[in-house]
Amino acid sequence: MSERMLKFVSRDRETPTKRNPGERRRDFGEIYAKFADEKAKAQAARCSQCGVPFCQDHCPLGNDIPDWLKLVAEDRLEEAYAVSSATNNMPEICGRICPQDRLCEGSCVIEQSGHGTVTIGAVEQYITETAWEKGWVKPVRPARERAQSVGVIGAGPAGLAAAEELRRDGFQVKIYDRYDRTGGLLVYGIPNFKLDKSVVARRTEHLEKSGVQFVRNFDVGRDASLGELRAEHDAVLVATGVYKARDLACPGAGNAGVVAALDYLTASNRTGLGDAVAAYDSGELNAQGKNVVVIGGGDTAMDCVRTAVRQGAKSVTCLYRRDRKNMPGSARETANAEEEGVIFEWLAAPKAVKGDAAKAAGIRVARMELGAPDASGRRAPVEVDGGEFDLDADLVIKALGFEPEDHPEMFGAPDLKVTARGTLRVDPETLETSIPGVYAAGDIVRGASLVVWAIVDGRKAAAAIAGRLRATAETPIAAE
Ligand SMILES: Cc1cc2nc3c(=O)[nH]c(=O)nc-3n(C[C@H](O)[C@H](O)[C@H](O)COP(=O)(O)OP(=O)(O)OC[C@H]3O[C@@H](n4cnc5c(N)ncnc54)[C@H](O)[C@@H]3O)c2cc1C
Ligand code: SF4
Repeated sequence: MSERMLKFVSRDRETPTKRNPGERRRDFGEIYAKFADEKAKAQAARCSQCGVPFCQDHCPLGNDIPDWLKLVAEDRLEEAYAVSSATNNMPEICGRICPQDRLCEGSCVIEQSGHGTVTIGAVEQYITETAWEKGWVKPVRPARERAQSVGVIGAGPAGLAAAEELRRDGFQVKIYDRYDRTGGLLVYGIPNFKLDKSVVARRTEHLEKSGVQFVRNFDVGRDASLGELRAEHDAVLVATGVYKARDLACPGAGNAGVVAALDYLTASNRTGLGDAVAAYDSGELNAQGKNVVVIGGGDTAMDCVRTAVRQGAKSVTCLYRRDRKNMPGSARETANAEEEGVIFEWLAAPKAVKGDAAKAAGIRVARMELGAPDASGRRAPVEVDGGEFDLDADLVIKALGFEPEDHPEMFGAPDLKVTARGTLRVDPETLETSIPGVYAAGDIVRGASLVVWAIVDGRKAAAAIAGRLRATAETPIAAE
């Protein structure tokens, strides 16, 4: 927020206006709330209640969108919140960061008829923000406490969603995470300008008040084996995400100035959270004043280019080896980045990073074209002879995607079966892994995906675990 805006916001709520000394001055929060209120209701009223809810079908959670839009339009917000939160454990987060253009909003009938989508995500965010403000979001108080416990490895959206569902059912839940803060990529991956970290922290506090225990700085593999956790709990859920960054394979890939996307984004997020980050202060993970080249075409690449713009980079260029149409990232994010001044070099791939171990000195780029389809059915990029060109670069950010870490090795669990991609092999109905009583959810099952899918999986795994544990002998430790 700009300094001018901050001054405006911090004005005394009770200061009388000059024109009318008896009247209380409305503060920025109040004015903004009224604006958001009117905007959300106007958007909700645009829903035609078409009766063919493609939006709902294209929401991975199957959110009852037409119903909550109708309730908002009728100013029945508490009921809208009840409907919206029945299928989603963090609607205010999905409302902010789902790629709606590829999901609910992309299939809105009004959008399809060329009149611009109902802004479903924004209304969803508005409903839950109002619920937090009015105190409608209450800690979970299960009707019956159960003695059985579930250990969850990973406090990202999959683990958090599962934990809430399991608490609702009365199970004792302990979440272990290797980081000092909870939220997974919500806190250290996704940049602050897309998702304010206080929004994530509020969810963690809500779970703590609901009786979920968090064990931070606990790295499963280092601090305990999977077998040890399995012995301690009646069931275990693995929700560890995917963190092994794909590397750059060209000469100079190890030069100074070449950094991994997640290191770069984590440094930026930590700085935003007030942590001291030596690599940020030294400039190693800071784009200020630099010519930045980001390699990759997914959402992570978009987050890197937009973060670099905000850090005051001299120039920001994104290299993607296919064309715009084939870019995996959200079209909306790409358009936002373009508006912010990012240059896109489509059909361009790194050929060599110039410089040495002490200093990056630019990048040589190969021009590509799309050739015949490869095994995946997508047209493979092929280098164009004589199409090379050079770009200035002091900072080269690798955003080439993520793969799973070697879980059987890391967890000391050779019986844990993985797929050819290294993701955990699970029963598609129950999400149970090859080890009985050990389940998995989120990116570690799907590969790098989306927050909304992690929530879907977390809820599904929780239901399967609860079903299994309820069916086994149990001793209630309290009843209401
Ligand atoms: C930069 C970036 C931007 C993204 N932007 C978006 C977006 O805008 N919208 C969207 O929908 N999706 C986005 N995604 C994808 C989304 O963040 C993921 O799909 C989602 O977070 C996956 O959730 P998860 O719970 O499976 O894993 P994660 O969020 O990765 O959480 C896994 C947790 O497990 C912990 N963990 C891992 N190993 C261990 C261990 N051995 N012991 C203990 N703890 C462990 C980690 O510390 C982490 O907290 C983005 C991803 C990235 C990288
Ligand atoms: S969860 Fe995502 S896809 Fe579903 S309604 Fe909300 S914003 Fe749309």
